[in-house]
Amino acid sequence: LAGAAATDNDSNNMTIDEGNGGCGPIIFTVINNCGIVETRFKVNKTTKMQKVFKAYAKKHNIHIASPGIHFKFHEKHIQPNDTAASLGLKDDDTIQCVNTITINTTTTSSKFKELQLYTNFTTCSHCNLPPHNNNNKKLLTCSDCASAAYHNSACQRSHWKVHKRSCAKLSQSLLPLKELIRWNKLFKVMKQQQYHDVSSSVGTKRKKKKRPLTWCWWHPDNENGITSQTLQHTNHIWNVAVEHWNTKDYLRAMEGMQFALEAYQSAWPYIGKGSGSFEMPSDDDVDDGRRRESGGGEKMKNDALGGGDDHNEMEIEEEGDDFFETSMILAKRLLFLAYCELDGGQIASARQRLVQCISITNTIIYSAHKASRTKNNRSAQFILDDAYMELMLSMEEAEADKILARHVANLAIANGNCCGWVDPMQRPGYMARSTVQLSSVPICPLEQRPIWCNELERNYGRILDEYNNTSRGTPMMTNQWMDVGCGRRGSGHDDHSVVSGRGWKEYVLFGTGAIESDYDAPFTKKLLRQHVPDAVTLAQEGGGEVIFSRLSPRTHIKPHCGPTNLRWTAHLGLVIPKSKSDCRIRVGNEWKSWSAGKILLFDDSFEHEVRNDTDEERVLLLIRLWHPELTSRTVLASQLVQEAIAKK
Ligand SMILES: [Zn+2]
Ligand SMILES: [Zn+2]
Repeated sequence: LAGAAATDNDSNNMTIDEGNGGCGPIIFTVINNCGIVETRFKVNKTTKMQKVFKAYAKKHNIHIASPGIHFKFHEKHIQPNDTAASLGLKDDDTIQCVNTITINTTTTSSKFKELQLYTNFTTCSHCNLPPHNNNNKKLLTCSDCASAAYHNSACQRSHWKVHKRSCAKLSQSLLPLKELIRWNKLFKVMKQQQYHDVSSSVGTKRKKKKRPLTWCWWHPDNENGITSQTLQHTNHIWNVAVEHWNTKDYLRAMEGMQFALEAYQSAWPYIGKGSGSFEMPSDDDVDDGRRRESGGGEKMKNDALGGGDDHNEMEIEEEGDDFFETSMILAKRLLFLAYCELDGGQIASARQRLVQCISITNTIIYSAHKASRTKNNRSAQFILDDAYMELMLSMEEAEADKILARHVANLAIANGNCCGWVDPMQRPGYMARSTVQLSSVPICPLEQRPIWCNELERNYGRILDEYNNTSRGTPMMTNQWMDVGCGRRGSGHDDHSVVSGRGWKEYVLFGTGAIESDYDAPFTKKLLRQHVPDAVTLAQEGGGEVIFSRLSPRTHIKPHCGPTNLRWTAHLGLVIPKSKSDCRIRVGNEWKSWSAGKILLFDDSFEHEVRNDTDEERVLLLIRLWHPELTSRTVLASQLVQEAIAKK
């Protein structure tokens, strides 16, 4: 047995036997930094620690070459050439394996040409103008980040002075999306090959090929993936971590969960070792699929709904219960850990896990569809939607650029309208589409506004008087002014984190935090009850709000989307800066200025932002109301709004 590492999996004991070179054996323990995994080693005193590292790494399926992993004894790093003797190890001593999880995303190339397929830029990043109208020419996209578009190279050169500051950062944040594009294309090809009628296709028929699902990177039987043994082991580590979670030891729980999924990180095809031998359809297959799809994208979708045919080019073996169960468990774990990591600020790692979660759930949905397993299909779709949502929010919250969130939305839309989205500019957490068909416009055209808008506009002067009273009146009134998103109310209001600048304050007339009586604004409250009773009820039930909203000078509300398309927002301009063009709101692609005494009605589930670049305050009466098409179906609307807020 010279030089061999013998593993006893049941007891976590390992023996490295190199023959007895005159020294007796020594027994010590290696624990990981979460204190969860213990492995006992029996080695000779002259055995190089390198061998211990290797045996430990092999057993736990971690990469020893990873810069995040090292071993420590009495707080000192152990070198590969150290021996038990040179370290002064004694029987029953403990060595620590410190595993700082590193997710390597830099091995892929940094070009993002393919994102162009999913992104439709409407204006040039340099001159802010739409494409020139010759030959229907599309805008050219920056090939490094796919997040800026230009008429021509002259526009690009002029813009580089500005763009160079964000280009590298953007492309770094986009790396996880690159993986998504690959998976998206792969699943598209698989779907098309399943539903495509070969007899009607032009060109040569390809050989029928059987591809078992065990090529999935997380599948226990995939030769480049993890073994069934490792699967059991990770289950054990995960369960211990869950116990930490239950005792509210969140940090330790998260580290344990990260450790549990480390084996999957090694199996993930595009990072770490083994990426070369991983079998996936070649890029030729993928390109071929895209060409075909461009000929009849809509038709493909309909075929997909109608079911398959008998002309499969590539067959996937049907998978049994254990495949669905194993995959669902892993998908849920990845999603849960991603939530934890996002909370803990480990954004890059969280994004990587969300992408992995998306790749798994797509495979489940595809296989479930093939095997007519509706239940598996539905539960995987929920997880898929959540993963896209979290990925999008992590991009929306990042300082980098709103374009990142739009890229994710585009991919979600390409991936079968995940989250119910159809427009990358409209990305609410709850998009009512299947239950109720609602029309979608960013800003409501003047002629389509409900008539109560006229009543409010006519009484603008008296509403303004009452606003002035709340800001200069009794202390009881002035104390009612609060920072937006300070945690006092849970009405689904835009969060405090989107404000940059001097501040955003609100005075609640109806909704959580409002005073009981009408003495602060008797006329306004009576007017609202009389003309917009649904909005008042919505606010009182916790699904909306009616507030005075005061934005400080030189303040910016960053681009974001509201929680649902069931609810619209009305702004009645009360105090508007003199330089109107410097105090604006963008909804979708349209910039608007407010006017005193005029109502702006919009759907805040569209991406919107506010800029007050003046030295004056901007004050509005803000009303949340049901989408106008819902008001005749109040009960349904009320239920849906509650559901949407809960989801947010
Ligand atoms: Zn231009
Ligand atoms: Zn760029």
